[in-house]
Amino acid sequence: MDSRLAKLRELVTSYLEGIPMLISSPENRRYLSGFTGSAGYLLIGEQESLLITDFRYVEQASAQAAGFRVVRGEFPLLRTVAEVVSQRAWKRLGFEDEHVSFADYRRLQDLLPGVELVPGSQALRSLRQIKEPGELSCIRRAARMCDAALEAVLPLFTPGVEEAELAWALERRLREAGAEDIAFPPIVASGPRSSLPHGRASHRRLQRGDLVTVDFGARYQGYCSDMTRTVAVGEVSADARRVYEVVARAQQAGLQAIRAGASCREVDAAARGVIEEEGFGEYFGHGLGHGVGLSVHEGPRLSPHAEEDAVLQPGMVVTVEPGVYLPGRLGVRIEDLVLVTEDGCEIISTFRKDLLILGG
Ligand code: ZN
Ligand code: ZN
Repeated sequence: MDSRLAKLRELVTSYLEGIPMLISSPENRRYLSGFTGSAGYLLIGEQESLLITDFRYVEQASAQAAGFRVVRGEFPLLRTVAEVVSQRAWKRLGFEDEHVSFADYRRLQDLLPGVELVPGSQALRSLRQIKEPGELSCIRRAARMCDAALEAVLPLFTPGVEEAELAWALERRLREAGAEDIAFPPIVASGPRSSLPHGRASHRRLQRGDLVTVDFGARYQGYCSDMTRTVAVGEVSADARRVYEVVARAQQAGLQAIRAGASCREVDAAARGVIEEEGFGEYFGHGLGHGVGLSVHEGPRLSPHAEEDAVLQPGMVVTVEPGVYLPGRLGVRIEDLVLVTEDGCEIISTFRKDLLILGG
């Protein structure tokens, strides 16, 4: 954790002139302190690191958060935070403006009159983007659970089976494989519903001729995986095959564009270009990918709207997930999790990507 705190202090020094920082988001709290409890704040100054939590977590926090002084707070915890800040006579305090609610912001203002609250989320954006070896092994393990779970449930992709049954079968396999949780509720979208990019599993029953998009992830020691495959139930239409082929080609182009130093916008454009050339540009309405770590969606994002100067660096883990969604008809998305390397990328998701014809 020491090196992570050093990285935080470096970011705070360069962007926030070294002012103390209040950390409130669960992911950054865990990343910086090792504390996995559901409530608590970190206060990180130049000299000291404090973890303020409540009675339920004091013992756990003391065991997990090496190098932090654990302070037992009373409800509401922000009151204790304010006391600590006042004792130190800090005049400025950085905070996670993209996480703190408006109500908590107002509470902080009331509790700390005379202290300037400085938005800090922007400064912290790159904090977790480059993964350490230990983080990578958790992500790899979570990704392997996805590969194995999908393989195991393939026999269930038959006409008459409900989307919700497939989602539950996947979830159960992930848990049995050692996942502590799912990374997000599985998306299982079949037939005409496959045009819903985030169609949660419903009670629709699979029919012959359906495309089925399955997007799911496991969580292991806090770290997420994220993978999408689109499969066919029996023979599908020529249109469906064509869309699948275009998305597969776009995905390949995206993967090939990834390497250290590549611009996040250009990687998106490499895949998007393939889809646009085939006339489906308007049906690919989301970014090509996103970072994955303690949060299933984190930086960097691969998108036409990425910051202009955002580039990939070795050790980043991102998804590559182009899709084409024809409203009311069909949709295809193919998503891999990849590790950015100096001269390319290592694909972490290993599940096959040719169009699988199942249950027929
Ligand atoms: Zn996904
Ligand atoms: Zn994703």
